[in-house]
Amino acid sequence: MDNGSQMANISNTGIGHFISDFGMLVLDLIPQSAIRNRKLENMLLDPFRRKINYLRISVTDRCNLRCRYCMPEEGITIIPHEEILTYEEILRIVRVFAIEGISKIRLTGGEPLVRKGIVDFVSRLSQIEEIKDLSLTTNGILLKEFAQDLKKAGLKRINISLDSLKKERFFQITRKDDFESVWAGIEEALRVGLFPIKINMVAIQGMNDDEIESFAQLTLHLPLIIRYIEYMPSGNGEDWKEINMLTIPQIKSRLENVGKLIPIPSDRWDGPAKRFRIEGALGEIGLIGPVSSHFCDDCNRLRLTPDGKIRTCLFSDEEIDVKELLRNGGSDRDLKGQLLVALKNKPERHTINTHQFKKCQRNMSAIGG
Ligand code: SAM
Repeated sequence: MDNGSQMANISNTGIGHFISDFGMLVLDLIPQSAIRNRKLENMLLDPFRRKINYLRISVTDRCNLRCRYCMPEEGITIIPHEEILTYEEILRIVRVFAIEGISKIRLTGGEPLVRKGIVDFVSRLSQIEEIKDLSLTTNGILLKEFAQDLKKAGLKRINISLDSLKKERFFQITRKDDFESVWAGIEEALRVGLFPIKINMVAIQGMNDDEIESFAQLTLHLPLIIRYIEYMPSGNGEDWKEINMLTIPQIKSRLENVGKLIPIPSDRWDGPAKRFRIEGALGEIGLIGPVSSHFCDDCNRLRLTPDGKIRTCLFSDEEIDVKELLRNGGSDRDLKGQLLVALKNKPERHTINTHQFKKCQRNMSAIGG
């Protein structure tokens, strides 16, 4: 790299537990042999008949970056160690929830790779039979060190957050001079065969909007999925202003300067991203618009915070505690009960863009973005 503001040289590089009436599992209607054989697909439905099969787990609220739109420079008040769920506790929650129908797990934070023992934890999670999809979201700083071990531990795919391809700007956004570490992490993830590798870019007007096209160009020669995410009103970072938000239609029209966008049909593990490929490209584009086109109708997720609260929506402060239950001798049945309470309370949609909207109390890092 010649100087700080130059772009980095990257070109080389069945009705199982069917919930009919909330709070009631119609478990008894199902033949025991079917449960033993797990022949029927378990299903968790919320009051809006959405199938909930995805749990995002924030394993820590600690982060080694201070992205301006997420956190103040001095950080945020951290959750005391003793309040953070142990890996054993998380594994117990996952095992119970997995039997009920959770089959997709994403580990996030804070920064999940800063938590000690994360590789072993991934390995234990990957052995839970019902978990069919296990992924992790990282800022990539420690990825070079961990990619190989994570892959061996059973992690298949990874999401890496990166908002600039310019060293100097990366520093301005994150307040850490670590662009090269992240890029080395991406290269290592490619080398060890984590697949797919998704790069998440939060596009903000006046911050990095001039790099929308450069990110897309990466897909021409690298098998990366570049995902553009609308800036959301959350976190304790610098104030969210609608004026700074680039909507997905605005981003999409910029991408059309790079090449023809060919839609890709979604598959069953796709989240809310609308998928495209630039004609002739090796990689893909994903567009995620939680603000401009809320995808709440298809929301399939719950979140688990580092201190053991289930959250029903990123933008709702409604939390259902499971830690107290675990630490006070609660049974697996009690845990299932809390899962059902969470399902029952899952809101139909977020209220961003309405006058009812209130920024949530917790920072993104303590929820699991
Ligand atoms: N440390 C990990 C990482 O960087 O991917 C996981 C946690 S981080 C909170 C998860 C994602 O949330 C990052 O991609 C980050 O850019 C995104 N994020 C944080 N605040 C956001 C906001 N206000 N709007 C949109 N995305 C945000």
